[in-house]
Amino acid sequence: MTPNDENQEERNKHNHLSQLASVGQIAAGIAHEVRNPLTAVKGFLQLLQNEDKPEYIEIAQSELDNALTTLNNLLQVSKPDLEDEEEQPIHMAVELESVLNLFQDRLYDVELITDIQDSETVVFGKKNQFKKAFFNLLKNAFESIEGKGKIWVSHFAAEKEVIVSIQDTGVGIPKEKLAILGTPFFTTKHHGTGMGLTQVFTVVYQHGGNISVESKENEGTKFTLTIPKKLMTNPRGVKRLELEFEKDFTMIEFFKRNSKIFEDRLLDQAINVRDKIDEILAIGNIDLINNAQKLVILVIEEREHELITFAKQEGKAWAKYSLTIAFKLEWVQAIRRTLWDFLYNFTVQSDNEHNLEDFFTLEKKINELMDQFLNHFFISYSKFKDEVLLAQRELVENLSVPIIPITPSISILPLIGEMDEYRIKTIEEKVLEEISELHIQTIIMDLSGVGYMELEVMQHLIKIIDGISLMGCKTVLTGIRPEIVKNVVKSGISLEKKATAKGTLQLALRDYLGLKKE
Ligand code: ADP
Ligand code: MG
Repeated sequence: MTPNDENQEERNKHNHLSQLASVGQIAAGIAHEVRNPLTAVKGFLQLLQNEDKPEYIEIAQSELDNALTTLNNLLQVSKPDLEDEEEQPIHMAVELESVLNLFQDRLYDVELITDIQDSETVVFGKKNQFKKAFFNLLKNAFESIEGKGKIWVSHFAAEKEVIVSIQDTGVGIPKEKLAILGTPFFTTKHHGTGMGLTQVFTVVYQHGGNISVESKENEGTKFTLTIPKKLMTNPRGVKRLELEFEKDFTMIEFFKRNSKIFEDRLLDQAINVRDKIDEILAIGNIDLINNAQKLVILVIEEREHELITFAKQEGKAWAKYSLTIAFKLEWVQAIRRTLWDFLYNFTVQSDNEHNLEDFFTLEKKINELMDQFLNHFFISYSKFKDEVLLAQRELVENLSVPIIPITPSISILPLIGEMDEYRIKTIEEKVLEEISELHIQTIIMDLSGVGYMELEVMQHLIKIIDGISLMGCKTVLTGIRPEIVKNVVKSGISLEKKATAKGTLQLALRDYLGLKKE
C-alpha cells in the first residue's frame, strides 16, 4: 500500500506527520552528533588562549567539518518529501554509508557489520528520498534492539538491480503484523509515528523496486530492497515519446526517421519562436526548422568543425537581419531539450540493458557541442554587429561631411542639420584630410542648411577655418542664417578676416567659377 491509495485529506495528514517526525529526528541527531564536535572545538579554543599552537586550529577545524557534514546529512534526510525532486544518478553504496554515519552514538551497544560491494554501481532516481528511506530502516533496526545487539548492512549489484539489506537482532515482528507493514500510522512504539516504513515502501515502489521482509519474534528482522538499475523513470523530466524504432538503428537513423515528431516537439517547446518562424524566413531567408535539423545532425555525428562554421554563419545572418537574440536562445534550448528526449527514447529502445553510462556520456557530448554552437554563434553575432555599427557610423560621418569637388581646385561642403561638438570634430578631421589629399585651394562651406549653432561650435568652426588657411586654402562661407550672424556679432568674433562671406551658394559659384549672371 502506498499513500497514493489514500484520499487527499489523509495524505495531507501524512505529510504533516512525517515532517513532525523529521523535526524530532533532527533534534535527536543534532544533540549527539553536533554537540560532541562543538564541545571539542570549544575546548581547543580555550587551549589556544593559553598556548599558541597551530595544530589546535587544525583539530578544531576538522571537528567543525565533522559537525557540518553531520548537519548536512541530517538536513538531507529530513527534507520534506519533494515530489518533484530531480532524478539523478545515485551511488547507493555511498549514500547508505553517509546515512550510517548518523548512528554513531548507538555503536557502543550495537555492533554494526557492513558488507558493501559494487559501490561504483549507479541507480537512477531521487537521491534524498533514498537517503531518507535508509535512515528510516536503520532507525527502526536500532530501535528494535534493547541493550546489546547486531546490525548487518549489505549492498551489492546484481545484473539488473542493486540489492540493499538491513538486518537486526531486535525484537522482531509478529507474523500477523508483517502484512500490514508500510501502512501509514501503524506503529507499536510509544512515540512512534508509523510513517517511516510508509516512506520506505513508497520510494522503493516509485522506483520500480521491491521490498521483502523476513522476521522472527525475539530473533530479529531483515529488510531486503531490490532496486532496478535501468531507467525506470525519466532523467531530468525527459519525455517518453511514441517513436519509430528498428533494431540496429543508429541514433542518426532514428532521428531522421522521426524528424516530423522532432519538428512538432520543437515547436511545442519554443512558444515565442513558433509565431515568428514565417517572419524570420521572410526577413532573413532563415529557415529555422531546416537549420535545427542540420544542427542536430552535426551534433549527433559530432562534426565539430562544420558545427562551428555553421554557428558562425548563423550568428552573422542573425546579426545582419537584426533578429532578436532571445529568440535564438529559446530556439536552441528547445532543440537541446528535444534532443535529450530523443536521446533518452533512443537509449531506452535500443539497449535492452538501458545502459545509463551510455546515456550520460552521450548527453554530456551533446551538451558540450550545443554549448560550442552557442558560443560561436554569439561571438560571430557580436563581431558582425560591431562591424555593422562601425560601418554605419563611418557611412553617417562621411555623409555628414560631403566634400564635393567642382573643379580640380575648388570644392563645396554643404552642411545640413544640427551642428554639435561631435559633428564639428568630424568635419575638422575630414576637411583637413581632404584638403591635403585633393589639393583643394578654395573650399566653399554652405551653411544655408544649418539653422543654429552654439557659440562653442561656432568657435570651433573658426578654428577649422584657421587650420584651412594654414594649409594654404581659402574658405568661402555662404548662406549664413541671420540668427547665426547675430550670434557672431554678439560674440565679437570677426569672421571677415578669416573667410570670405557670400550671401548664397549661387553667388559664390558665379564668382569662383566665372559663371555668368543670368
Ligand atoms: P515507527 O518507527 O514510527 O513506529 P515505522 O513505519 O518506521 O514507524 O514502523 C512501523 C512499525 O513496524 C514499528 O512500530 C514496528 O512495530 C515495526 N517495525 C519496523 N521495523 C522494524 C524492525 N526492524 N524490527 C522490529 N519491528 C519493526
Ligand atoms: Mg520508524
